[in-house]
Amino acid sequence: MKRIGVLTSGGDAPGMNAAIRAVVRKAIYHGLEVYGIKQGYNGLINGKIEKMELGSVGDIIQRGGTVLRSARCEEFKTKEGQAKGIEQLKKHGIEGLVVIGGDGSYQGAKALTEQGFPCVGVPGTIDNDIPGTDFTIGFDTALNTVLDSIDKIRDTASSHERTFVIEVMGRHAGDIALWSGLAGGAETILIPEEAYSMDEITERLKNGSERGKKHSIIIVAEGVVKAHRIAEELEKVTTYDTRVSVLGHVQRGGTPTAFDRVLASRLGARAVELLMEGRGGRAVGIVKNELVDDDILEILRRPHQINMDIYKLSHVLSI
Ligand code: ADP
Repeated sequence: MKRIGVLTSGGDAPGMNAAIRAVVRKAIYHGLEVYGIKQGYNGLINGKIEKMELGSVGDIIQRGGTVLRSARCEEFKTKEGQAKGIEQLKKHGIEGLVVIGGDGSYQGAKALTEQGFPCVGVPGTIDNDIPGTDFTIGFDTALNTVLDSIDKIRDTASSHERTFVIEVMGRHAGDIALWSGLAGGAETILIPEEAYSMDEITERLKNGSERGKKHSIIIVAEGVVKAHRIAEELEKVTTYDTRVSVLGHVQRGGTPTAFDRVLASRLGARAVELLMEGRGGRAVGIVKNELVDDDILEILRRPHQINMDIYKLSHVLSI
């Protein structure tokens, strides 16, 4: 393989730039040429493809977002769209592609692989919902952003003796809610993977208040229920002064943590190695701090699993 491409697709995540940098530098180190594809599959179809040099990725390791930009592209879900993409790759002499993104982006990489074009997936999403890896790039940064907010909200919550319901990202995966809830000492954590009951939530609040707690924090993943709804329900059955905070898109941005930069560097470099070994159709990951790779088709068939040990522990510690 002489020439590879790299793109970022789907929702952006802090650390994607560190991954792009690793792909470009690792490839050039081994004498390959690298082409950056702008705006995900949209740019691929439309030929927004440029050669990258060592300097193209200078000064980006510390930046959130993605310098290659990202976009959603419905057309790429069709065979015609995919054929246009492959045509562009061939036109530029690109023989392998690194796709950095979430499960939607992996679907695109899978489609290309099935049509004989070697792709390697790198898990880039704040949701931590890609099977085959313990952590995805961006999760740790998002977690720390949420945690910073929880700590700040806790200051005001305890000053005013309030209950706060904090809504965090996670439509289908509760990882951000779970990990930030445990790290932030939340009384209750609601995640899409587990059913919740209002009775249990009120019970926990009452127990806490009886033993003299000055405030309570409830973390709810957006995919479970709106935070406002929980607050309304609580106000019906308790006398607690309840407030809501919906964190929103701040969770996607910001300077990547050291953990995400190191993870992105390792995974990006490994993806290039796989292409050099002629092993397309794989997705890279990290399991027990070791680099691993799996069949991308197989990864897409596996369901995402929440860490139930952490879920149970959060119950024990917030008693
Ligand atoms: P993420 O990668 O963060 O999960 P999306 O689900 O929006 O984000 O997917 C990103 C892009 O991947 C889509 O806009 C589309 O171009 C491509 N994609 C998603 N699903 C498929 C599919 N089934 N086949 C081909 N391409 C897909």
